[in-house]
Order: sequence, then C-alpha cells, then structure tokens
Amino acid sequence: MNNKVMSHIKIKVIVIGAGIAGSSIAGDLTRRGYEVHLYDKNDSHAKETSAHGTALAHPQVGKKISKLQRFTQLANQLANQKWKNAQLTQEAFEPLRNLTPHQWEHLPELLDEMGLTQREVQILLEKEALLKTNVEAPGLLFPTAAVYSLPMVCAMELALLDKGQRHWNCYIQSIRHENHLWELIDQQGEVIGSAPVLILAGGLHVQDLLKTVDVHLPLRPVRGQITTFKIKTDSLLAQYLPKKAIRGDGYCMPATRRSRQEWLWEVGSSYDEDQRDLETWLSSDQENAIRGLNLIGCDHLHLGDLIADQSFVGIRSASKDRLPLIGPIPKRAGLFVACAYGSRGVLWSALAAPLTTAYVDAFLAGADRLGAGFFSGASTTLCSEVASAVNPGRFLRAVLATRTSNSKPIFPVS
Ligand SMILES: Cc1cc2nc3c(=O)[nH]c(=O)nc-3n(C[C@H](O)[C@H](O)[C@H](O)COP(=O)(O)OP(=O)(O)OC[C@H]3O[C@@H](n4cnc5c(N)ncnc54)[C@H](O)[C@@H]3O)c2cc1C
Repeated sequence: MNNKVMSHIKIKVIVIGAGIAGSSIAGDLTRRGYEVHLYDKNDSHAKETSAHGTALAHPQVGKKISKLQRFTQLANQLANQKWKNAQLTQEAFEPLRNLTPHQWEHLPELLDEMGLTQREVQILLEKEALLKTNVEAPGLLFPTAAVYSLPMVCAMELALLDKGQRHWNCYIQSIRHENHLWELIDQQGEVIGSAPVLILAGGLHVQDLLKTVDVHLPLRPVRGQITTFKIKTDSLLAQYLPKKAIRGDGYCMPATRRSRQEWLWEVGSSYDEDQRDLETWLSSDQENAIRGLNLIGCDHLHLGDLIADQSFVGIRSASKDRLPLIGPIPKRAGLFVACAYGSRGVLWSALAAPLTTAYVDAFLAGADRLGAGFFSGASTTLCSEVASAVNPGRFLRAVLATRTSNSKPIFPVS
C-alpha cells in the first residue's frame, strides 16, 4: 500500500445499499484503505434486485462499433478478473439467424475493428454450434462471458468489511449535509450515521433520497421476470435444450437435469417499463416460454412442453439514455451515486467500483480532476470516456446550474 493510500486509512465513507452496486463499491473502497460503513434496510445483502442468482455478463457486439461495445468489453474483463469465484457457468452463445451473406463475409473484419480477440468472440458455423451448444444455428461464441450469482458477488465484497461496519435493518428516510458531513436520518428522525463522503447505491430508491436534498434525478423502474420451466425428459423438446447460456432477445441458461424424469430450464426476461409489481405474472411466464423457444430456434408447437416451475421478479432502475449513473452529484460536496444499471448489473458494478474509488480519492485530495488509469488495463482515454458518459451531471447540470456551489466540480477530462 503506498503513502497516498495509507493517508486515507481513517477516513470514513458511507455506502447506502447492499445490492451488487453498493457491495462492490464498499469492497473496493475498503481495499483502498477507507473505513467503509454500509447501511441497508434489509437484514442482509442482496435482498432486492440483486437477489438474482443467474445474471449473464458478456461484451456487447452490435452491427457497428459503439461506446457500449467498448465499455462492456472493458467491464467484462474487470468482472472476470474480480469475480471468477461467483461464476456459475462460463461461455455464452448468440445465434445469428438473420445475417445476409454480405454481413457474414464482413463479420471477422468488424470484430477485428472492434478490438475483440478470438479469446473474447469466436464465429461458429452451424455444425460447430450444434456440437458445442446444442443449438443448430451459426453465431458468436463468447468464451469470456459468464453467469454470475449476484448474492455471491455481494457476499464476497462485503466480507472485506468488519461486522460492525455492516448496518442491517436501517431504513434511511432522508439525508442532509451539516458541517461538511453527510448525515443519515432514519424514520424516527434520528441521525444514525455521518461521514464526509456518502455514496447512494440503493437502486431506484436513490431517486427518493436525492429528493430530500433537492436533487431530482430521472430514473425509471423496469420490471423483469425470469421463469424456470420444467420439461419432461421424454418430451420432444428435451433433445433441443441448450448446453450453454444463449443470448439474443433475452437469454436462457444451460438446461440442467433435475431428476430422471425432468429437466429445468431458466429463461428471461420480460422488460416492463414503468412497472414495479413484484408479484409473478402469468403473462410474463408465457412470454418467457416463447422467448426461450425463439432463442434455441424451436417451433412454438413445443410450448405445451414447458411448465413454469418458479419465477424471479425484480425491478431494474434505468436512465433515459440506458447508461448507468456513476459519479458525483454536482454542487453537493462529497455526495456520489451509483445506480441505473438496467440489465447490466454485473458489468456496470465492475466499472463503478474503481471509478467511484477514484472519485472519492480525488474529492478527498481536493483535486478537480480524476486521477488517470483507474481501470486496470484501460487507456487514459477510455477511462475518461467511460467516466464522462456515465456522469450523473449529464442529467443534472442544467437543473442545478443556478444554485450556489459548495464544492469543486470533479468532472472527468473528456
Ligand atoms: C429480471 C431481471 C434480469 C436481470 N438480468 C441480468 C443479467 O442477466 N445480467 C446482469 O448483469 N444484470 C441483470 N439484471 C440487472 C441486475 O439484477 C441489477 O442491475 C442489479 O441487481 C441492481 O443492483 P443494485 O445494487 O443497483 O440494486 P438492488 O440490488 O436493488 O440494491 C439496492 C439496495 O439498496 C437498499 N436500499 C434502497 N433504499 C434504501 C434506503 N432508503 N435505506 C436503506 N437501504 C436502502 C435495498 O434494500 C437494496 O438492498 C437483471 C435484473 C432483472 C430484474
């Protein structure tokens, strides 16, 4: 640990939220030497959206080179470096059924231009795909993709904090800034914690806490349901079930054998904007059945073979431009957010943890710019490009422009 890090040792930082966003940030700040205190309204970690036990992460590949493709490629590398122990299965396959011969011809060139190596993406022809995945379609194999258990990631990260630094059953009603400290106020109006740095990582609820300090962040709820189906081993569909995670319009897990009579197959997920209902919807199970058959290229005649066994429902938080919000709240000294991870909880958490740590370092050092190289293995340009794209200021600068400043802005160099 260098001197710069040692000098931070006694500085207290508070994180609200023990989902994957808050836990991964709390873990990184602890590794960096801060005294991190984590607060959550539940009685342990990963009780809300991050209760999701099978989250797929892979670099995004689109029809052209994009910001999203570069950011997810970096994030996927970081997730692999850090959370191998929380990976349940590796590799994923994306069938490409509708590409024109021209697009097929130029695919290797496109992947090369995207900087994706053979280690990250491989083109599989129909026969190879069938052998490897049991899906008979040409497509892309992602060797570095993985299915993560979000509760396992949270547990790994929070194990770095002492027991006394994890505060359960603490609902934070509001926050306020007094004498350079951020105070947490509970439902009885009591101050139950304070620190110079506060990180809000409470998913959709970040919006409610920000309102208490007069900041209005536009977040949207997006309900999602994943269905686990049981399938009889003697049904026709059983022979088409995938051996790998498959992605496309949604995703599904490799099927697993529950007993001599039954397979289990998890398919997700629905995407219902502006809905927050946590009850299971029959219509979402039906949608997932169709989604699953489409992913593996099976006729809908097999619908009757899929019997919904159990479902997971979660509420994602999303921003208007679908990128997460990670960074400082302008004109609120020492207040940071990490939210709006949408369907990319693993990837954005892998980026948010080192990025938030860099912001906290810069803030406490009184710097007005982020230090360089906070993402291991990424160029300075890519680091600042990510920081700039996900900065919450993109939605807030205009709103807060008229208020008096009590801090230096820590906007990234872009
Ligand atoms: C159906 C579905 C499928 C998905 N699939 C994938 C996938 O394949 N891959 C992937 O990477 N991601 C996936 N996601 C997204 C991923 O699950 C989320 O992005 C991630 O879990 C969000 O984590 P979070 O920490 O931001 O929020 P949460 O997990 O909701 O955590 C927020 C925490 O903050 C606490 N909190 C909130 N307000 C307060 C308060 N006032 N006081 C105290 N505590 C508070 C809550 O108790 C909670 O523990 C999926 C999501 C859904 C719903």
